[in-house]
Amino acid sequence: QLGRMFVMAARSMGYAVVVLDPDADCPAAQWADQHIQASYDDTAALDRLAQQCAAITTEFENVPARSLEYLARLRPVRPSAIVLAITQDRIREKKFLKSHGFVTAPYAVVEQRLALAEALQQVATPALMKSSRSGYDGKGQRWINSLAEAEKAFDDLGGQPCVLEAGVMIQTEISVLLVRAVDGQVVAYPPGENIHREGILDVSIVPARISSELTERATQIAIRIAENLAYCGVMAVEFFIAKNGELLVNEIAPRPHNSGHYTVDACATSQFEQQVRALCGLPPGDARLLSPAVMVNLLGDLWRAEQAPPWERALSHAHAKLHLYGKHVARPGRKMGHYTVLGESVESSFSQAMAIQNALKMHAELTR
Ligand code: AMP
Repeated sequence: QLGRMFVMAARSMGYAVVVLDPDADCPAAQWADQHIQASYDDTAALDRLAQQCAAITTEFENVPARSLEYLARLRPVRPSAIVLAITQDRIREKKFLKSHGFVTAPYAVVEQRLALAEALQQVATPALMKSSRSGYDGKGQRWINSLAEAEKAFDDLGGQPCVLEAGVMIQTEISVLLVRAVDGQVVAYPPGENIHREGILDVSIVPARISSELTERATQIAIRIAENLAYCGVMAVEFFIAKNGELLVNEIAPRPHNSGHYTVDACATSQFEQQVRALCGLPPGDARLLSPAVMVNLLGDLWRAEQAPPWERALSHAHAKLHLYGKHVARPGRKMGHYTVLGESVESSFSQAMAIQNALKMHAELTR
């Protein structure tokens, strides 16, 4: 869906877009000028993509970094392969953050099962075992409280390298979204406050209900991360604000972010237009927030036997904007769309967004 919204922004700005994606029915291809249906490491497909495109970007950090490296010999690729290589691997990402002085939750690297006992001496429980690669939306993570649970979690996650991370007593989760242009110019959006349910983003509230001091600090950290990565493109940095007031970097997304979907309706320039601008060597657009906004994800849990929810329950609110991603199969936990409520205040947007969510959930319950 990030690719789809990028394609929509690019096309409305007059660009033609070629999408490479292995899925015949991928949401981005429905809007693209052309779809190359191939795996991300298919060299002939990458050659075709490069032949047809003046510049190349990605919406997905799990594309093999090697494929971007290959493409970068032929065309500008933004963000770079090295940025993807770091951010698609939690161990590398944590090491990057630590070596540049950015504070994260305490963690230990677990390359093999035998290292678990030592890791547990370094990291207090409860702790989260996170697979180093391919995790997203809370997938590839297990809470553990003991060595036995750690061993089981490590095995469950496939015996692959993991990061064991101390559980943080989280007060608030926030994310800072920014764009950094080819010439290094950076524009950041106001931090959004994120509420997760079962590891998946549920609601984003913008601006976040945090102090101006924390807003400033988080924004400066995100900008410094982008600078240290020599970043070009749209990037989101997720943070935890701990109950003890500490500000910890959780992770870096080298792409537009789910928590930035509100920018489509509530900002002078959407995160997707910013990605187009950065890719095409244009300066960043104005990131001003035009209205407080609350974004709510629509997961497949709301669908009943392929039957979409009654959208009039959302759209009867004049301030609600509905976005669906063109996915034909609804599964629990699958992101099918979102809506954004633009109100006079954060409070009024939030209460209207929750009223809509309750109505949609109630309908799904009653038609179970
Ligand atoms: P992640 O995929 O690492 O962003 O984790 C998904 C969600 O799990 C986060 O947004 C948090 O809500 C929760 N989570 C991740 N790491 C921690 C942690 N160290 N302590 C407490 N909650 C966490």
